[in-house]
Amino acid sequence: MHELSIVEALIEQVELEVDRAGETGRVARLDLVIGRLSGVNTDSIRFAFQMLAAGTRAEGAELAITEPKPTCVCRTCGARSEIEELVAACPRCGNRDVFLEGGQELLLESIELVD
Ligand SMILES: [Zn+2]
Repeated sequence: MHELSIVEALIEQVELEVDRAGETGRVARLDLVIGRLSGVNTDSIRFAFQMLAAGTRAEGAELAITEPKPTCVCRTCGARSEIEELVAACPRCGNRDVFLEGGQELLLESIELVD
């Protein structure tokens, strides 16, 4: 499972950031940004997190996941449409000269520690 290695890296990053900040507390909450087009399954992320966070500072932390939608930008009519799924044509004019922006994010936005 692809998500296992992502979560492994995530927990490593969390431990590192918390250490670097000189904190010794546990993690209360993690904010993640996982774009709709990133190919990452958020249920699998949560499941892997439950497993892998055990015994680390992140154990029991709340996972807050934001899933930004991609925007389809049309080179013909200039429309910027927020889309749910991959599209091959502009939702407004139907032209195929489009490109996608965003939706592929995969990042750790913030770490909240227990007081
Ligand atoms: Zn268009």
